[in-house]
Amino acid sequence: ALTIGIVGLPNVGKSTMFNALTKNNVLAANYPFATIEPNVGVVPLPDPRLKVLAGIFGSQAILPATVSFVDIAGIVKGASEGEGLGNKFLANIREADAICQVVRAFVDDDVHHVDGKVSPASDLETINTELVLADLQTLEKAVPRLDKEVKGKKTDKSVLDAAVAAQKILESGDPISKHPGEVDLDAVRELGLLTTKPFIYVFNVDESQLTDEAFQAEMSALVAPADAIFLNAQLESEVAELDEEEARELLESVGITEPGLDQLAHKGFNTLGLQTYLTAGPKETRAWTIRKGWTAPQAAGVIHTDFQKGFIKAEVISFDDLVEAGSVAEARAKGKARMEGKDYVMQDGDVVEFRFNV
Ligand code: GDP
Repeated sequence: ALTIGIVGLPNVGKSTMFNALTKNNVLAANYPFATIEPNVGVVPLPDPRLKVLAGIFGSQAILPATVSFVDIAGIVKGASEGEGLGNKFLANIREADAICQVVRAFVDDDVHHVDGKVSPASDLETINTELVLADLQTLEKAVPRLDKEVKGKKTDKSVLDAAVAAQKILESGDPISKHPGEVDLDAVRELGLLTTKPFIYVFNVDESQLTDEAFQAEMSALVAPADAIFLNAQLESEVAELDEEEARELLESVGITEPGLDQLAHKGFNTLGLQTYLTAGPKETRAWTIRKGWTAPQAAGVIHTDFQKGFIKAEVISFDDLVEAGSVAEARAKGKARMEGKDYVMQDGDVVEFRFNV
């Protein structure tokens, strides 16, 4: 499953946000693996289509796609010097598909700030610097080694070139992800560089900043081309404990329509080029995670490798067509159910039944 690592300076609201995320686990009962480790939370990707489908099919259960969040504590100013970033930190961050950096923007004199004052720009700078320095350390060792290996014809030159290109970017102070397309990421994958991962920035804001467009534009510009999300962690943890109706009212009262955490799950999916397709029946309605551009057999493989190996065809109805028709039978009668072969590229919201040989 998709894993997003949460990093940030101490006292910016990481735990508050993480707790809200895991409290939000309405459907935890369907996921026996929901509590793996204390710092891992598995949360459903909100998808209103699932409830509609479950209604049409009379499904007993709804299983949304999931996103795992890992609370990666342990980054402070100077972390990359001296003893370096801790092993647990490095292992956690390397396993994550994307990094979510939480930045404090809320002002509250009762909450101590490690630098004595609230400054999102300098917090961003601090964390970036630590991650960039950690990657530079990795490359300082790797580049001479790769150089030797290339001379000895043990490694392809493209790997060395990519490492050197990465080093240049880092030396300018930027994370590698800030320069999409400039480094061959596949070539440097084995080096486990931290800043090659996609970043999502969460600004923990107070209520007034939630709807302050000028402020948000300013913060977005600081982190572009990465995505910025603005949420109030304390509010999110309150929202997570309410039922749907109450939650909507509370959000409306502060002028927003979607919980920040839902935005985060969606952005995470988008940033990583993921999408979902849907299966439905009397037992369950379920969302499955795939990459954009995957073909029908690849998508089938997410359910079971046998489905991919024995793939014959897929019966596909788009969600909107199915809802309009009201049932699979009616969608078929209207010619809205398509038989797709092995070259079919999956579309978001396809409702699918695979036919396969076992
Ligand atoms: P962490 O060290 O990054 O995990 O930060 P915590 O989640 O423990 O939060 C540090 C302190 O800030 C706690 O006292 C929280 O209650 C408080 N806090 C977190 N989010 C908010 C917020 O959105 N607004 C305000 N005013 N306080 C917050």
